[in-house]
Amino acid sequence: MAWICPGCNRPDAIAHIENEDGLHPFPCHFCNYSVLDSGGRSAVWASYACDLKECAGVIRDLYHYSPRAGLTEVVRLPCNECGSGKPRQGVRHVPNPGRRTS
Ligand SMILES: [Zn+2]
Ligand SMILES: [Zn+2]
Repeated sequence: MAWICPGCNRPDAIAHIENEDGLHPFPCHFCNYSVLDSGGRSAVWASYACDLKECAGVIRDLYHYSPRAGLTEVVRLPCNECGSGKPRQGVRHVPNPGRRTS
């Protein structure tokens, strides 16, 4: 799942690759914002209005930075009203699919 963009606050805007070297985000699809540059802040918020029509809450992504390593972690905070973590309908993320290595 792509992250919310702190620049334009659209969902599914920041695609990224995660591997053992860390997080490798791409610029925003829409506004070209780069989440690699925190402007010296240790955390940056991005928020998006919850999709449920009757819900006035927001879903947020919190980008954490360290002075040395840059972007270290992105945390998805579910809607503060209804608890939904999905800004859009989409594939449900399965955190731990059955480990079947053959
Ligand atoms: Zn953007
Ligand atoms: Zn909601």
